[in-house]
Amino acid sequence: MSVRSRYRRVVAEVAEVCEQCGREPAEVRVIAVSKTVGPDEVAEAVAGGACDFGENRPDQLVSKAAAFPEARWHFIGNIQSRRIPDIVGSAALIHSLYQLRHGQKIDQAAERLGKVQDVLVEVNVSGEASKSGVAPEEAGALVRELAALPHVRVRGLMTMAPKGDPAADRASFEGLAALADEIRSTLAPADAAAFDELSMGMSEDWREAVSAGATMVRIGRAVFSEEFE
Ligand SMILES: *Cc1c(COP(=O)(O)O)cnc(C)c1O
Repeated sequence: MSVRSRYRRVVAEVAEVCEQCGREPAEVRVIAVSKTVGPDEVAEAVAGGACDFGENRPDQLVSKAAAFPEARWHFIGNIQSRRIPDIVGSAALIHSLYQLRHGQKIDQAAERLGKVQDVLVEVNVSGEASKSGVAPEEAGALVRELAALPHVRVRGLMTMAPKGDPAADRASFEGLAALADEIRSTLAPADAAAFDELSMGMSEDWREAVSAGATMVRIGRAVFSEEFE
């Protein structure tokens, strides 16, 4: 199976799951996580209709975004201060922000580039020590502080579920959706209107995420790896 047909299959399955849970397929964006592949595979996914890609390394983000400027590039990796100008220069959306000091640097870099940077706040819903993200009880305060930065727009929340247990995955995703509703109710109307994205779900757990309200699923192996055939 080609990358192109695996991408199409994922999109078709996402649409099916949306219909099963009473959602519109257009409400869920499939982000093809291309961190393990090169430009040829990205080109194949583009040929299959992909327009959103995710990268977790700044170098790869910058070079692939330059090679495929018509696609929308998402940064989903660990943020390091010194790489923030590169990330802001190439990312349509940063999914993995959970520190105010990084938000402040993103604000400065975005101002220099004359843009407003869309970001998501990463939340460690499951509380696992190995996972990054802000604690759920601190997420609201962080969102409000970030929303006050003039060149940052907080679009919603992101999480990674614990691996391997669908019930625990579902609980994390439902927890993130409930937290987003709660935080939205505390925001000023303009900030609340922009705060409408939930990035959750990967190759093995996106079904649970879609039924819990994901608006973006981040799919790597199910698009780019033969292990998912
Ligand atoms: C790698 C990665 C993904 C995609 O994972 P798959 O299991 O390959 O679908 C999604 N989100 C983040 C943050 C990642 O690092």
